[in-house]
Amino acid sequence: CQRADSLDLANKHDSRWPRQNSLSMKEWDIPYDELKLFEVIGTGRFGTVYRGSWHGAVAVKVLHVLSDDCVPLDTFKHEVATFRKTRHENLVLFMGACMKPPRLAIVTSLCKGMTLYTHIHLRKDKFTANKSVIVAQQISQGMGYLHARGIIHKDLKTKNIFLENGKVVITDFGLFSVTKLCFGNKLVQSLRGDSLGIPAGWLCYLAPELCRALTPHASLHLPFSKATDVYAFGTVWYELLCGEYPFKSQPPEAVIWQVGKGVKQSLANMQASRDIKDILMLCWSYRSSERPDFPHLLTTLQKLPRKRLARSPSHPVHLSRSADS
Ligand code: ATP
Repeated sequence: CQRADSLDLANKHDSRWPRQNSLSMKEWDIPYDELKLFEVIGTGRFGTVYRGSWHGAVAVKVLHVLSDDCVPLDTFKHEVATFRKTRHENLVLFMGACMKPPRLAIVTSLCKGMTLYTHIHLRKDKFTANKSVIVAQQISQGMGYLHARGIIHKDLKTKNIFLENGKVVITDFGLFSVTKLCFGNKLVQSLRGDSLGIPAGWLCYLAPELCRALTPHASLHLPFSKATDVYAFGTVWYELLCGEYPFKSQPPEAVIWQVGKGVKQSLANMQASRDIKDILMLCWSYRSSERPDFPHLLTTLQKLPRKRLARSPSHPVHLSRSADS
């Protein structure tokens, strides 16, 4: 679109975008024509992910850019500039991006395993407490690295965590603000409907301060922070241990109201040691300042006494086949 072009032109002269940065950004610019796209792996709220080829197997997330949208290219480029700083074994490998509107796409390594979401919610695989701890430690490591680099994930959830032969790979970090800009109007429209058309399985990751910001007329400038990532991690920890979402089967309005007021999912029926429940309660703290950071979580997880992790064989978490080992 015309405004996107003029934005692009403006960016070339943008003082916030130093020349040196523009030059190094070119290294990450993948011409769309160089990509081979095969089958669709899946479609999310903001883009369609294809299995692709670019010097080998890759995943290509083509962002949904509505034709009448004018994509703020500098926002996208800033996100891309952030991704290239990430090198960690628990993070998906960022390979580059197509940065010429309307074709905006993110190219990453292709994850071979299944997501934690598939394991937990579709296959109903059971994670023993020990395995849950190992997975949680790896998530904490990857997230601790992101935060140390000043990157907030903004969309940490089991759908964005792959398990590849026992190794955790986190995807989709930092993209929320870009994707919301491309597709934001639709998301806002869905919030304006008669009932809140919020994607299933998203709300339970939102910290109280995010739930309170979710007004129907908000432009979705949600106050994401490192602490909101920690809250989301708490929900992942709960799913690993219980095999379901917190506030399961409750309507979105009820979840928003309760979380916004500081009500937490009850742990009364959860058979787990105090230490395990304490991690949940800390991550789900109403006040963001009371939530631990990821290095602290990692230390806590490492200190969990092994014998106290063993649970009664009557606990459903341990009964059936275990997840990816
Ligand atoms: P949402 O958009 O609400 O976050 P989502 O996570 O399902 O939902 P996408 O992130 O667009 O949406 O992912 C679409 C599909 O592509 C999912 O099935 C996801 O597991 C898969 N996928 C994403 N990245 C990769 C990757 N690097 N390798 C393999 N599959 C991937």
